[in-house]
Amino acid sequence: MSRSDLTGRNAPAEARVTRPLALTRAAVDRAAHHRLDEAWLAAAWSHPSTRVLVVSGGQVLVEETEDGRTELVMVPSFDAPPSENHRYFLGTDADGVSYFALQKDTLPGRMDDAARPAGLREVGGLLSERDAGLMVHAVALENWQRMHRFCSRCGERTVIAAAGHVRRCPACGAEHYPRTDPAVIMLVTDDQDRALLGRQLHWPEGRFSTLAGFVEPGESLEQAVAREVLEESGVRVGEVSYVASQPWPFPSSLMLGFTARATTSQIQVDGEEIHEARWFSRDDLRKGIESGEILPPSGISIAARLIELWYGKPLPAAPRQP
Ligand SMILES: [Zn+2]
Repeated sequence: MSRSDLTGRNAPAEARVTRPLALTRAAVDRAAHHRLDEAWLAAAWSHPSTRVLVVSGGQVLVEETEDGRTELVMVPSFDAPPSENHRYFLGTDADGVSYFALQKDTLPGRMDDAARPAGLREVGGLLSERDAGLMVHAVALENWQRMHRFCSRCGERTVIAAAGHVRRCPACGAEHYPRTDPAVIMLVTDDQDRALLGRQLHWPEGRFSTLAGFVEPGESLEQAVAREVLEESGVRVGEVSYVASQPWPFPSSLMLGFTARATTSQIQVDGEEIHEARWFSRDDLRKGIESGEILPPSGISIAARLIELWYGKPLPAAPRQP
């Protein structure tokens, strides 16, 4: 299969790679040039149009609108809970509205009970372009801030800087930047155009997905694809092609999506990360999903998109649960 087939020349519009992934949508300019301008940040924070998103442990408050949409609950800064040190500047929109995230140990309660806490996996695909981009930025920063409170050079406690995008060490002067861990995720096909999907032991019964793994130090993305496929499934791959990427802040990954062409077909799973792997024809996959035997990956994951691109159209619906 050539790359152009996967990018969807013949696929229906909704299956093309150009359709944004749920977590790659954004409508707010990050306006990074303001991050070091304390006077500008203070003015933006106190402006009545500014909106603040409270984030806690990867969760935010969302509410359903009357017409059925899911929206972030954001408040003006004068309604935000007090917190000087855990304020992250997220950017400004085309109307000049500034957005901040505020990290708290718990989410604030609301009088009207319409708001509920939610994580990105649950609502990432339901939110608008603007809200999805704000939430993924806020959650990614929060995860990094919470786990990098001490200097990796000297061990001293670090302080927040650059409106949440840097941590600085007061003892040795080191500056620490948000960390992103590259991970490769790949749809492997063989000479019969079947797809290699695997399942991990702890996944729900029947869940099969693309293989994936972290890039190791001193390794190219293509080498990581070939190594992970071989380690997890025993299959060797030749040509590797990049498709698209997706932030995956659980806690700090960047998923880099590829297709890879197998040069061998014998499967031998590692039995640790991957418990079982199979070659699926499009017909195998359709029948498996329709009968309820196979559960495809979650819709917000790039894994679902890679499978859909190979399949050529949206995957069939699973049967209703009794
Ligand atoms: Zn230090």
